[in-house]
Amino acid sequence: MPDTTTDTLARPLRDLRVSVTDRCNFRCRYCMPREVFGHGYDFLPRAGILSFEEITRIARVFVSLGVEKIRLTGGEPLLRRDIARLVAQLAAIPGLRDLTLTTNGSLLAKNARLLRQAGLRRITVSLDSLDDATFRAMNDADFPVADVLAGLDAALDAGFAPIKINMVVRRGVNEDGIPAMVRRFGGGGFILRFIEYMDVGNTNGWRMSDVVPAAEIRERIAEPLTRLPPSYDGETALRYRTGDGGEIGIIASVTHPFCRGCTRARLAADGQLYTCLFAGTGHDLRTLVRETADDSMLLESIRSIWATRSDRYSERRTAATVRQPKAEMSLLGG
Ligand code: SAM
Ligand code: SF4
Ligand code: SF4
Repeated sequence: MPDTTTDTLARPLRDLRVSVTDRCNFRCRYCMPREVFGHGYDFLPRAGILSFEEITRIARVFVSLGVEKIRLTGGEPLLRRDIARLVAQLAAIPGLRDLTLTTNGSLLAKNARLLRQAGLRRITVSLDSLDDATFRAMNDADFPVADVLAGLDAALDAGFAPIKINMVVRRGVNEDGIPAMVRRFGGGGFILRFIEYMDVGNTNGWRMSDVVPAAEIRERIAEPLTRLPPSYDGETALRYRTGDGGEIGIIASVTHPFCRGCTRARLAADGQLYTCLFAGTGHDLRTLVRETADDSMLLESIRSIWATRSDRYSERRTAATVRQPKAEMSLLGG
């Protein structure tokens, strides 16, 4: 029977996001702007990144502390060589109820079946526009939308359904594409999520005026929707049922913060544990995992980090917090 570890606001530890690499083949301007993450950017050296065995060992300890769901992310997780081997190791952890992965979809066509066979249960694909020119501009790598759509087809063929689709909405960039996304993904087979653009990290030049608030996203969907209750405690999305039986959600971290129900820890690619997406510093688990073979020390360390957690950044966001030092999304995992 797993432990119930709670923080200072009585929030249990239920979810773990694991960033497996800080590298990416896209340069989405809201995440890894090219002028910062260009040639000469100091990505993590290979030796600084947790091995699959180290990740699995830490994950097992998290599950014994009450974590039920693990999401693999990055950077782009499908860039990590042999990622299906990590999926298989994590899928075998007793007590883990849900294992999923978030990807930009660029390498999905060739990986979907392998991931499924390795035991991946669900998948989320980020897709900001169906319009090729807008999509290429947003990923800033001139990557064609058709290749992501081919990845989605491969994922459906491999048995991933429903597939979650994440669209980050940016003012003046892609909000016109909301209705087309609803037409394409608002029926069965997909769960469409619109995400308010967030002030993660310090490099994307975030401004409140770039955010399209949930209320406006809802209006732009322009079709009758029925509000759904949260599907689990700590659900981050405002959920709706579409006329043809599909599901749409809006993740409104800026205009409807959900810190009260936040049960999520983040393990960065370098083994730092972050207790909030907007944290400036993490807690070093890499040294611990490399220097001791004793899992009880890891367990006590994670338990005490979580027990002292008081994060509620989004509920306290101000012009001043936006500028405070924060870890980058590509390092700690979205
Ligand atoms: N590379 C993978 C991908 O794009 O799906 C996984 C990592 S990415 C950091 C995870 C999610 O974070 C993506 O859905 C992405 O759109 C979202 N994201 C990145 N920067 C964001 C920002 N500033 N505001 C809101 N969402 C953001
Ligand atoms: Fe890469 Fe994902 Fe960040 Fe885009 S959002 S730059 S795909 S890590
Ligand atoms: Fe959780 Fe931090 Fe986001 Fe609040 S701001 S929901 S505490 S990750």
